[in-house]
Amino acid sequence: MAKRVVDVLVPVALDRAYSYRVPDGLAVAPGDFVSVPLGAREATGVVWAENPAPDIRLDNRLKDIESKLDYPALRPELRSFVEWLANYTVSSRGMVLRMCLRMGEHLGEERERIGVRLAGAPPARMTPARARVLAALDDGMVRAKSEAAREAGVSAGVIDGLVDEGTLQTVVLPPEPVAENPDPDFTQPEFSTDQRMAADALKATIAKDGYSVTLLDGVTGSGKTEVYFEAVADAIRKGRQSLILMPEIALTAQFLDRFAARFGVRPAEWHSELTPRKRARTWAAVAKGEVPVVVGARSALFLPYADLGLIVVDEEHDPAYKQEDGVHYHARDMAVVRGHIAKIPIVLSSATPAVETETNARRGRYARVALPERFGGQRLPSVEPIDLRAAPPPRGRFISPMLAGEVKIALERKEQALLFLNRRGYAPLTLCRACGFRFACPNCDAWLVDHRFKKQLVCHHCGFGLPHPHQCPKCAAVDSFVACGPGVERLEEEVHELFPEARVLVLSSDLVAGIERMREEFAEIAQGLFDIVIGTQLVAKGHNFPMLNLVGVVDADLGLSNGDPRAAERTFQLLHQVVGRAGRDAGIGRGFLQTHQPDHPVMRALIAQDREAFYDAEIELREKTHYPPFGRLASIIVSGGDKHETASYARELARWAPLNENMKEGVRVLGPAEAPLALIRGRHRMRLLLKAPRHYDLSAYMRRWLAKAPKRRGSIKLDIDIDPQSFL
Ligand code: ADP
Ligand code: ZN
Repeated sequence: MAKRVVDVLVPVALDRAYSYRVPDGLAVAPGDFVSVPLGAREATGVVWAENPAPDIRLDNRLKDIESKLDYPALRPELRSFVEWLANYTVSSRGMVLRMCLRMGEHLGEERERIGVRLAGAPPARMTPARARVLAALDDGMVRAKSEAAREAGVSAGVIDGLVDEGTLQTVVLPPEPVAENPDPDFTQPEFSTDQRMAADALKATIAKDGYSVTLLDGVTGSGKTEVYFEAVADAIRKGRQSLILMPEIALTAQFLDRFAARFGVRPAEWHSELTPRKRARTWAAVAKGEVPVVVGARSALFLPYADLGLIVVDEEHDPAYKQEDGVHYHARDMAVVRGHIAKIPIVLSSATPAVETETNARRGRYARVALPERFGGQRLPSVEPIDLRAAPPPRGRFISPMLAGEVKIALERKEQALLFLNRRGYAPLTLCRACGFRFACPNCDAWLVDHRFKKQLVCHHCGFGLPHPHQCPKCAAVDSFVACGPGVERLEEEVHELFPEARVLVLSSDLVAGIERMREEFAEIAQGLFDIVIGTQLVAKGHNFPMLNLVGVVDADLGLSNGDPRAAERTFQLLHQVVGRAGRDAGIGRGFLQTHQPDHPVMRALIAQDREAFYDAEIELREKTHYPPFGRLASIIVSGGDKHETASYARELARWAPLNENMKEGVRVLGPAEAPLALIRGRHRMRLLLKAPRHYDLSAYMRRWLAKAPKRRGSIKLDIDIDPQSFL
């Protein structure tokens, strides 16, 4: 009798699932983890499907599955999600599977945790250290060994010594749970009428079950978090898991504490800063259904939930949801897909929804639940322009007299001020006064950014760094360099000169040593330990700083001129969010925009606080130009080490685009053209852009095209991006 054959998908860059024979007596089913021979090595894979009719010719060359692994099986829902996502993003299924298996190699037996407690007579020889241990353990309770040592202020050796003497007794502790169980009734906030209605609407989607998408559309400070916690509470009551996606998980200690205030305990976290061990334990606990709520970055979408019942996408408009390398996907869109497959409710939360989301809500495809007012009767901050043409800062300075005046008033009132500038470092460009030489990155099409704190000129694209030079490499002039333009570090200098007494904090991702310190800094701002905060987009998102009432945007025009079709939307969202940090708790919030274009539609909408006008105009423009969501885009970046070879391959690729069909179907292939960033990390980049009608299957078109594409030569690489967000 022929042996049973199954197809096994391996988490590497392969789309195919390979066939393997199932040894007699080995019980495996689709979803099971198995170890299989792959080439010369052993690989971990997932049984993907039965293969009832394996290729006869291959039959006796097929290899056997080595063994079945003791991991929880991948459920059909997650396997469908992998299939769907690979197909949509034109990625190999193996690479998408890999995103589901980010538990590392640490899965398996738990290391035993050993605890100690006081059990026998005091030791024959008493020392001060030993005495401290006895005092600390006096209550007879069991403590982990490391904890006992810490409490008594002694080394682990002292504890071991007391164990040997029989004074302490060891006990095997149960493994520490990944997360404690949240209590949906731990506390109940007192809701305003609007909040109550919004919470009830979300609770109704949980009660009803099944797929739905709801936009929780609330102004900054309206209590969106409090409101969607009610949906999470109901999911917990039903015994189902919830996922709360966050754009910048590293920054959300405040969020974790709010969760704890509502549910009694902190939720499980999932992000890139978890230790490998924590990662493996969390993965397994999620798969076993032991974790009721996960708060995570976009990668949390790929966890093997035992019974996912709700996904909340907080700040759903945030660009950080787009993964731009490897598999290019948008976590908000894929959350909706996962919700559709799992037949569960999705909540998208934002004060400034993505144009796509807003359009879906306007057309009734998504339900909308609105919170039009701030909680506690606080007013939204006013927004005023500072016209830099009429009242510019002094030469070489970036804070206008008017903004400086407002900061001064805020300080006199003992309130905080936030100066927002979305630029890391000291200055974006350094040039030689004598000959005009500019420092550029040797690997990228970019200027080197002056970082005084690090004492380097740094490339923001590849990380290349150069110690601050004394001599111009071109004309040999000495100390002839001028910094051009501002970064947050330069702003700090100016602020110190203007307000020597003020306590100033610069918040920028490159200046903090890790996530814990960053969380502390946010807490310190909230406690009022700083008067002036200077920050990049890190500070724009989601934070609550009760004493902050003034927000000054140093360069409101910064994001408008980069040729991105979403530049207006992004700028509107970012500036609205950052100004929304002001006046949340008490007092009157005010935002100031330093701009050269106070009449730009984005500035006008921000100043008039007329969000609808902005969306009306933007949606109309997108509709007219067939940009998303009224048309579809995809891009291919062709990159390679040699400029000529890259360009010639890109041209050849363009010639192979399935032309006849696309004429009929309305697909247009634009390019190849040099990408705006024509060189990154020593690789030359050419871009092809595809435009298609709204319902066109661009992924299928892309696959047809790539199937015919000429063989790639040398170092040529293709990056496929369906629904691109970045146009650089
Ligand atoms: P948003 O996310 O809409 O900007 P938040 O959810 O951060 O707003 O809420 C703003 C602030 O108001 C938070 O400090 C929150 O704890 C508080 N808050 C909101 N609703 C309530 C409520 N019903 N009772 C008490 N505090 C609330
Ligand atoms: Zn570089």
